[in-house]
This record gives sequence, structure tokens and C-alpha cells, in this order.
Amino acid sequence: MEFRYLGNSGLKISEITYGNWLTHGSQVENDVATKCVQAALEAGISTFDTADVYANTKAETVLGDALKGERRESLEIFTKVYWPTGPAGKNDTGLSRKHIMESINGSLTRLQTDYVDLYQAHRYDTETPLEETMQAFADVVRQGKALYIGVSEWTADQIREGVALSKQLGFQLISSQPQYSMLWRVIEDEVVPTCEEVGVSQIVWSPIAQGVLSGKYLPGEKAPEGSRAADEKGGADMIKRFMNDDVLTRVQGLKPIADEAALTMAQLAIAWVLQNPNVAAALVGASRPEQVAENVKAAGVKLEPALMAKIDDVLGDIVERDAGKTKETAPQKRVA
Ligand code: NDP
Repeated sequence: MEFRYLGNSGLKISEITYGNWLTHGSQVENDVATKCVQAALEAGISTFDTADVYANTKAETVLGDALKGERRESLEIFTKVYWPTGPAGKNDTGLSRKHIMESINGSLTRLQTDYVDLYQAHRYDTETPLEETMQAFADVVRQGKALYIGVSEWTADQIREGVALSKQLGFQLISSQPQYSMLWRVIEDEVVPTCEEVGVSQIVWSPIAQGVLSGKYLPGEKAPEGSRAADEKGGADMIKRFMNDDVLTRVQGLKPIADEAALTMAQLAIAWVLQNPNVAAALVGASRPEQVAENVKAAGVKLEPALMAKIDDVLGDIVERDAGKTKETAPQKRVA
């Protein structure tokens, strides 16, 4: 495993980070979840990402159980706050001081730890003054419940404003967690340059486009059993954006490029995001331990510019690059 600094900080994280969205507490049974976490630890992954909202808090519990007994100082545990949890009451959502203060306590209890290394605003809250949110984060850090603060799917301007306030309040906002893959490159024009300027790294989600870039979904064919696209508990709905024959056909064209690099297609997809120096980690999911063992081999891989260009030629115009998508795909109002 290789490690990278997170933003302008002294914190090192594993460049392949394990996340448990849609899997723990939902798609996969707890014993499989534990085996995936074990496979991650064995492969040298030290950084784990979850959120209060995953499986409506169950994912944090599963991860906490799976990491029990590990040396806390050897791990980096990340979680998030914003989306409605529990009974989804009027204050069980967003980035108000009340919800942040209550949510961090719930997360720490479920994760069975005294602090998280990174606490992230899972989206921007259009209904809470940013000053209130940042003051609450400052207090969470001062209470020792989180060491660093991050955000997810914030626009370049929102990140810039958040970082300025964090400096005034005396804590470190060091990460942005956006979607990024060969197919979804909307952060490249605005979010990445701004983050480079203000000392923030990307921790990128769905680098394999939820499994699509592994090449296992074939155009015109039914999704393999047990795959996310076949998961009616939520996965199928989440992945459907990429499940069309145009995308799936182009993706098959990446196979010879992966072969040339002596990588599997999933490894190629992960290595691709890691070529961007502003990316601190590729945040991968897994429904089976074998996937973790395969995917970690993307750590440290260097892709030559000629090979990167071939990828662009094969994918052509199916790549989404519109910087406006960060704002467009984020909630325009706080989700109740
Ligand atoms: P990936 O793109 O890594 O997709 C992971 C899924 O792809 C697996 O669960 C598995 O699904 C399939 N897969 C993985 N490896 C292979 C392989 N080698 N061969 C074939 N199939 C494979 O990322 P996710 O979409 O899971 O997201 C990763 C993490 O990012 C999340 O757990 C979460 O921590 C974070 N995230 C953050 C968001 C945010 O808003 N901040 C939003 C979404 C995710 P299967 O076997 O079921 O097909």
C-alpha cells in the first residue's frame, strides 16, 4: 500500500481507502462485511470511510464491530453528517449546530471509538448559515471528537468559503469527497484547481463507477447475480445512470488497454483516478473480499500519458465533464 497526505496536513491515509456505502448493513451479510474489512486490513488499507446515513446508521455499527480489537492509532476512520437519519425528524438532518452535535455522538457510539479522524459534511446545507456549521465543526474538533474536517460534493466556491472560515476559527478543513472516475470528471475544471490552491485533497468516490468500469456488465445482457445492478435494496437504483448500452459498449473497449498495462479493468479504473496528484485516495467499495484483494493492486501503479490518451479515445463523448454538475446534482434544498 502507498500512503498520501490529506490536504495541507500531516495526516497520511492509504491511497486506497475502503468505504461501506450500500454494502454493510444492506446488500451484504455482516460476516461478509467483516471478511471484506479483514481483507482490506491484510492488504494494508488503514483508512475506512462510512456515514451516519448508510443503511440508516447500520453501516457504522457494522464497521465498528469489524474494526473492534484493531489498534486505533493505526487506523484512520472517516464518517459524515448531513442526510436524514433515524426517524428523520425535522432536526435529524442538515448541518445545523444541533444536528452536528447530536450526530457526531451517535456516530462515535456506533463506531466504538472516542474520535473520528475526519468528519465530513456529506453535502452543503443551503438552509443553515455556513458560519453556524463551521462553528459547530470547530467545537467538535475542540472537544476532541474529530481531528480534521472535510466536505463532500461542495462546489469550488463553497469549499473556498468553508476553508476561509475554518482558518478564522482555528481548525483544519482538508478534504473534499466528490464522485470521480474515467466516466465522471466534473471536478477537473473548478473543484480541483481551487482545492490545490487552498490545500484541500480529493477522496474520490465510485472510482470504478460502482462496478461498471470492472467491465462485468455487458451490453444487452442481464446484470450478473449478486452484483450492485441486480440489488433491488437500493444498489440497482444508484447505478442505473451508467447502465445503458452506449456506456457499457465503450467500457468494453477499455479491456485491451487494461491487458496492455497488465491490470484488470477495475485496477485500471482505480489507478486512473490516482494519477491525479490532487487525489489523496480512491474510495472503493466491495461486496466480496476477493474484490478488495484485486483492487488494492492498483496502489502505486503509474500509467503512461500515451495509455491515458488511449482511454480518452475509447470513451469519447460519454465522459461527463460539465463543472456545473456538482451544483446540479446536489440537493437544492435541505433534504427533510
Ligand atoms: P466503487 O466504484 O469502488 O464500486 C464498488 C462496487 O463495485 C463494489 O461494491 C462491487 O459491487 C463492485 N466491484 C468492486 N470491485 C470489483 C471488481 N474488482 N470486480 C467487479 N466488481 C467490483 O465505489 P462505491 O460506489 O462502492 O463507493 C465507494 C465508497 O465511496 C462508498 O463506500 C462510500 O464510502 C463513498 N461514497 C461516497 C459518496 C458521497 O456522497 N460522499 C457517495 C457514494 C459513495 P458488486 O459486487 O455488488 O457489483
